[in-house]
Amino acid sequence: MHLINLASGLSYFPTPEKATAAATIALAADVNGKYGPMEGITELRTAIAERYTAEGVVTGAAQILITPGSKMALFNLFSVLLRHGDEVVVPTPFWFGFEELMKYSKGKLVPLPTTLESNYTLTPEALRSTLSDRSRILLLTNPGNPTGRVYTKPELEAILDVAADFPNLYVLSDEIYDFVTYGSPFTSILSCEGTTERTVVVGGISKTFAMAGWRVGYIVGTPDLISRFLDFQASTEGGISPLLQHAALAAIEARAAILPPMLQALDQNRQLVKEKLGLIPQVRYVLPQGAYYFFPDFSYYINSSTPTGEKIATSTDLCRYLKETVALELAPGDKFRAPGHARMSFAVEQEVLEEAMQRLIHALHQLQN
Ligand code: PMP
Repeated sequence: MHLINLASGLSYFPTPEKATAAATIALAADVNGKYGPMEGITELRTAIAERYTAEGVVTGAAQILITPGSKMALFNLFSVLLRHGDEVVVPTPFWFGFEELMKYSKGKLVPLPTTLESNYTLTPEALRSTLSDRSRILLLTNPGNPTGRVYTKPELEAILDVAADFPNLYVLSDEIYDFVTYGSPFTSILSCEGTTERTVVVGGISKTFAMAGWRVGYIVGTPDLISRFLDFQASTEGGISPLLQHAALAAIEARAAILPPMLQALDQNRQLVKEKLGLIPQVRYVLPQGAYYFFPDFSYYINSSTPTGEKIATSTDLCRYLKETVALELAPGDKFRAPGHARMSFAVEQEVLEEAMQRLIHALHQLQN
């Protein structure tokens, strides 16, 4: 049986042709042979700025820094903003990459639990009781990975309202899945009432355009902040290849044509998983409004036994069991600070997803409580 991997964060679509074509043209023109501007090429910075301007935020290219992927954008922010002992408050479940990044940063993560029962809602009260003078960054992910939760504008404004009482606090919104929503409107935090010079957005092309390997991300902030982040970038990795940036620019410019077919296919896959999960009443989940993951709660199966008598004690055990018995790989919720859960991507071919769901249902039926 070949392995089906639903644990990955990679989307299965090929790179949009327009992007590959733009990179080829840039290569032929030898754009890549020289250093580009450390802050990124002006055309790409302007295209990203225009998108935020269109959403009611006045920004220009001076407010955009192009980074080597959004992971590096986050690392840049952490490196520049965090001092020893500073806290980074992050609602859980959260993407495990934040924890990895923190290994090489001065801050420490402070989890702020949200639950499936409340549809992963972050209440102003819970936020206020977790923030303190030590909090330096509030890190939101919108749409959420792994939850698929999309914050509404009033929710974001309520969060900004609480944040306003903490003068050392930066509100950082990781919006890497911004265009991947299914009907629920996406609101960038930058288009909300209550933003300040300490409101920052991280984005990229890895998820929306299925271009993870091209390694293009960006930071949106005030010109002052961007020049601090640029200093870090110039002093360390020195920016990214113009070739890759031309590909990103072409994808962003053609997004009105590129995104609808991708989103339609993803939405069909989302419906398929919903239908199949409906066949397993023991498994609870929230229908994702954005990104491309389900994050079901498999707690019912924790403490069950496999047909060979092994105990399933954690979501990591459950994922190992699925991989070993039905060759299905899911990402264990333990990595996202959500014991008992597992993340399943639906950004794979529909036939693969159908087969994966059959394997999942079959393997869960074999477990004995
Ligand atoms: N933020 C989130 C929430 C992610 O899920 C990911 C990728 N899994 C990243 C950032 C990093 O993306 P990139 O490929 O642009 O570094």
